[in-house]
Amino acid sequence: MAVFMTSNQRLSRAGFRRAPVNAPARVRVCVRLRPGVGTGQGQDAPCVRGVGSHSLEILNWRNEMEMMKYHFDAFYGETSTQHDIYMGSVQPFLRHLLEGQNASILAYGPTGAGKTHTMLGSPDQPGVIPRAVRDVLQMTRDASGDEWKYSVSMSYLEIYQEKVLDLLEPSLRDLPIREDCNHHILVPGLTQKPIMNFSDFESYFLPASCNRTVAPTQLNQRSSRSHAVLLLWVSQTQGWPPYARRAAKLCLIDLAGSENNRRTGNQGLRLKESGAINTSLFVLSKVVDALNQGLPRVPYRDSKLTRLLQDSLGGSAHSLIIANIAPEKRYYFDTLTSLNFAAKSKQVVNKPFMQETLPEIAAPKRPSADSSDEGPEAKRPCSEEKKLNVVEEKPLSSLLPLENLEPALVQRLLRLEALEKGTESGNRGLPLLNTPRKERLVLQKQIEEKWRELQSLTEKQQEMEAKQEHAPAKLRKQAVVLPFKQAQTPEKTEEEEEIIIIKQKGKGRKRKPLAPNSENKAPPEWEVTMRPDLLTRSKGNILALLNTGSEKDLMNLHRIGKKTAQLIVAWRDLHGLFKKVEDLAEVEGVSKKQVASFLKANILTTIGNIE
Ligand code: ADP
Ligand code: MG
Repeated sequence: MAVFMTSNQRLSRAGFRRAPVNAPARVRVCVRLRPGVGTGQGQDAPCVRGVGSHSLEILNWRNEMEMMKYHFDAFYGETSTQHDIYMGSVQPFLRHLLEGQNASILAYGPTGAGKTHTMLGSPDQPGVIPRAVRDVLQMTRDASGDEWKYSVSMSYLEIYQEKVLDLLEPSLRDLPIREDCNHHILVPGLTQKPIMNFSDFESYFLPASCNRTVAPTQLNQRSSRSHAVLLLWVSQTQGWPPYARRAAKLCLIDLAGSENNRRTGNQGLRLKESGAINTSLFVLSKVVDALNQGLPRVPYRDSKLTRLLQDSLGGSAHSLIIANIAPEKRYYFDTLTSLNFAAKSKQVVNKPFMQETLPEIAAPKRPSADSSDEGPEAKRPCSEEKKLNVVEEKPLSSLLPLENLEPALVQRLLRLEALEKGTESGNRGLPLLNTPRKERLVLQKQIEEKWRELQSLTEKQQEMEAKQEHAPAKLRKQAVVLPFKQAQTPEKTEEEEEIIIIKQKGKGRKRKPLAPNSENKAPPEWEVTMRPDLLTRSKGNILALLNTGSEKDLMNLHRIGKKTAQLIVAWRDLHGLFKKVEDLAEVEGVSKKQVASFLKANILTTIGNIE
């Protein structure tokens, strides 16, 4: 395994410029073209060429006479060295670490295009990783003084078939990915090793690299079958009050390449691995699209890779993407895909911020370095320390007694809360920061309106509940109708005794509404059982109405139409009062059968009067 020694480059402290906190930072993108291999003829013939230090041209597949031009933050041609790339695009990023801000450097491109060569390199051509580690160690040593003391630790993981594996501790497989209250992504349980110098780093990194999953494919003898992520933690502690602490993370990622399985000749396990790799790269592309379009849902959670990169893309880190491409024609469509991904990635804007914490009780002296195996991120997310400029907001649901609310209302509240947090969008915690300002304002307005609506609904609900509590018990009693048999039971409660039992004879017969004055239709056969005293009182009420009611009052009775009501009033004028309800049969055109049916129909409705 390689031992990485680089030429002497030193960073001077004077070179650091303090970046304004919370200033937006666009994702930087550079492209590296590897030297051509093969005969240079046919499929090995080149289809890409550089144009200056920022642009390149590629053949237009629709018309070979045409070239398509792409412009990036930097372009490194076939003759460029590891040193050129490191000094030109990578090293300027490292200063952010000393400012307590995160940085990410990511190699992207198809298998065989030079990602691992760029990130790792070889003993005689060390890549970004060994150079960056050496410089970070040097920088922190140089910057350590009375005011700030620095320490560095490292973690190394790979994402293989959607599982996070700890390369420093291979027994730890499928670790979870979480987000702390500051929206930093972390992997609880991941091993962190403190490193004081470059040999410490090599002693962990070289054996761990052997744990990486690689396999030969037709395009690359040691094709990376996983995404490899090296994490460098830079912690700094203030030497005097208020003993502030800052933590920054450098994320160095060597992605597995997108693969065309026909070209790689993948089968079986290789094909399965390739499926996982291609899926995660597809999600990565969707994440960039969503960020560029300012969509409310960014699908970070759709793959482990994008979840891990959440703070690198659209999040809190300064990010650099190195797109590696190959010049040969047989790579043409892979190259085109990589260039398009790179082009759209440079529109993504991150919001880096300094991560500074103060100890809750100012200790006279804090340890200057994390001497344990556990780095700052291995601690409980958002531990006992007080965050600067962070206002802890309570979730909406905690402000309301959910158990007292209607389920539909609770669901609405939780949905609203999810929208506010951005969990529905997969962009948890920073849902609005990634969208353009205009759309953000609209979303904020919508949330405020929903919140107001929710509050008024809650108030209404509470009012209704209060009313229900004070409502008289009798109201509820009246609605009770018991089955026939139950009413026959000898022991009746006071409440049950007041109940009238009705049973329709003949199963399944439907009750037909009676037309007023319908002479010929037979009344339905109803069997009514009623306490005799209630029956008498009910009849008395009907009789009173028949004797005193106006035409309109009479029409309020069941089975009395306008014509019958007029006849009743006319009968009254002629004969005086009805002596009993059954006398109704004396009215012209009203039969005894109709009177019986009239009685049955009206006895129930006069109960209210009896009560
Ligand atoms: P990837 O990681 O993208 O699959 P590698 O980094 O493994 O590709 O590169 C494939 C082969 O090409 C390796 O043998 C590597 O040494 C070689 N290679 C890639 N880029 C360069 C370069 N810029 N200069 C020289 N050789 C390179
Ligand atoms: Mg590789």
